Amino acid sequence: MSQPEMPRANADVIARREAIAADLQRLCPDTPVIVSPTELRAYESDGLTAYRQPPLLTILPSTTQEVARILRYCHDHAIRVVPRGAGTSLSGGALPLADAVLLGMARFNRILDIDLDNRCAVVQPGVTNLAITRAVAHAGFHYAPDPSSQIACTIGGNVAENAGGVHCLKYGLTTNNVLGIEMVTIEGEIVRLGGRHMEAEGYDLLGLMVGSEGLMGVVTEVTVRLTPNPITARAVLIGFPSVEDAGRCVADVISAGIIPAGMEMMDKPAIHAAEAFVHAGYPLDVEALLIVEVDGPPEEVDELIERVLDIAKRNRAESMRASQSEQERQLFWAGRKAAFPAVGRISPDYYCMDGTIPRHRLPEVLSGIAELSGRYGLDCANVFHAGDGNLHPLILYDANDADQLHRAERFGADILRLCVQVGGVLTGEHGVGVEKRDLMPEMFSKTDLEVQMRLKCAFDEKQLLNPGKVFPSLKGCGELSPFSAREIEKRFPDIPRF
Ligand SMILES: Cc1cc2nc3c(=O)[nH]c(=O)nc-3n(C[C@H](O)[C@H](O)[C@H](O)COP(=O)(O)OP(=O)(O)OC[C@H]3O[C@@H](n4cnc5c(N)ncnc54)[C@H](O)[C@@H]3O)c2cc1C
Repeated sequence: MSQPEMPRANADVIARREAIAADLQRLCPDTPVIVSPTELRAYESDGLTAYRQPPLLTILPSTTQEVARILRYCHDHAIRVVPRGAGTSLSGGALPLADAVLLGMARFNRILDIDLDNRCAVVQPGVTNLAITRAVAHAGFHYAPDPSSQIACTIGGNVAENAGGVHCLKYGLTTNNVLGIEMVTIEGEIVRLGGRHMEAEGYDLLGLMVGSEGLMGVVTEVTVRLTPNPITARAVLIGFPSVEDAGRCVADVISAGIIPAGMEMMDKPAIHAAEAFVHAGYPLDVEALLIVEVDGPPEEVDELIERVLDIAKRNRAESMRASQSEQERQLFWAGRKAAFPAVGRISPDYYCMDGTIPRHRLPEVLSGIAELSGRYGLDCANVFHAGDGNLHPLILYDANDADQLHRAERFGADILRLCVQVGGVLTGEHGVGVEKRDLMPEMFSKTDLEVQMRLKCAFDEKQLLNPGKVFPSLKGCGELSPFSAREIEKRFPDIPRF
């Protein structure tokens, strides 16, 4: 059957795709290479679903040697590469580019070693966060950072985003729980950083790689710290008549020297959405809800709970309920962990922001968000890692309405500007990606950005790894001044700019 004639540009793209696919298949005969436009649709977006762009092609290696061959080829032929784990990034970090190879790491899904003597596990990057905890639960251990997406997101994606979770207040973020990695540079060199031991000599390159958003290398193995399960853990639900009261309670708990295992806050719209979804037993007649968890020996836990409740009473708490069983504790958290999908049930789409502020500025930032909500005519539900000052305002909108999407973007950008104005930062745990890229100059000077760019260039001089993410200017390595917006568009026409 004769093929229908293709439009010229399309035919060029197809020819380029097929040539690269054939080369890659020769280099990695056992590796799936996806070129069918229908199958590529599965990769066109990540958790930031407002933006879509199918990749040139997708390749799914399963060994470090294959990754090295693929990257060396792409480097030699100046082909851009976007690494991808499970695609749950909320900042568009894994958003494909039209002329880039999407390097899917999902087949790196094996747990290589559980080393209880050294309290660590060696895993491949496509292993999900929760699978690590499940693999060591029998021995009384877990992997501490617990993003709400932990059932799906991969440890490679967690390393790239420096992911956090509700228990990171006490146990640290990904960066505090990763001991070593194996990575491949864009030139195809295999490098090991850190290991099973606490400290590596020389510069902290491991620290640099954690949170580098797929811009500096591709992670092919991760050694994570394992944390013993606490003897006891109890959570309390505390309802407040205002978010200001809840915010003050958070600050008072921390300043009393108590470090809860987790301290999360939800405002009224988030409480109602989560309760309707999970039936966690949340009070519905309060304006703000705190979930505070303490862990340790039972006597210590009981005493800390009493102290937290005393502090809450002094801050006008209206309802207080402590978990009486492990099952009830899990239920308290289930509502919070399902807050994003719960909000997804009450709105066609939601745009999840991620900024961090000094804790004591919380009341003022929340009233600022309420004011912006009125100005943009869009509702907003708020979920916070309150102990860390990390806000997740969820802006409700309908992506089918271009005007609503535009307003949601501007509303979100204003929230992040507000975070920076009160002394906070643009991101807490979701990364910069494409979402916050153009806001980077709100926080960093031109010199700051140039220094960061030089680091990127030390690893990837041709800027082939995940370009168009994080940096608002695509200044070439070694060039003295940033490109203008028009130059960027000319040089990189397919990089979305929002
Ligand atoms: C419902 C929901 C809840 C969430 N809750 C949280 C939360 O509580 N805390 C939190 O921190 N995040 C949360 N997230 C965001 C997201 O899950 C995290 O950012 C996670 O770390 C992404 O992992 P991933 O495997 O999906 O990576 P992807 O989305 O595939 O990629 C993310 C970034 O990592 C890079 N990358 C992926 N794999 C590699 C690799 N092997 N080597 C180099 N770079 C790589 C990609 O290029 C991209 O820049 C949530 C997301 C959703 C949808």
